[in-house]
Amino acid sequence: MILNEKQEEIFARALKAQGIEREAMQALEEMAELTKEILKNIIRKKDNRDCIAEELADVYVTLEQVRRMYGFSEEEIQKIADEKIDMLGKRLDAAKA
Ligand SMILES: [Mg+2]
Repeated sequence: MILNEKQEEIFARALKAQGIEREAMQALEEMAELTKEILKNIIRKKDNRDCIAEELADVYVTLEQVRRMYGFSEEEIQKIADEKIDMLGKRLDAAKA
């Protein structure tokens, strides 16, 4: 996630004010909210695209804080994500999907 200086400061202030445990719990809560909206969309066929966008943004933001809390660089996570996407591509190739 690309952040400006002010946003970087906000993340640091939030972590200082809330602490690691509370920030981690917030991330878990946001992931649950996204899960709920996706389930509503798929299972109940609810037209909740806007809610999914809101919850997706919440998850992006809180995961950014989790990345910081555990001291991972963006490059580190991007490298792992790239490897996982490559593996997915190979699995699809093998399955001829
Ligand atoms: Mg939320």
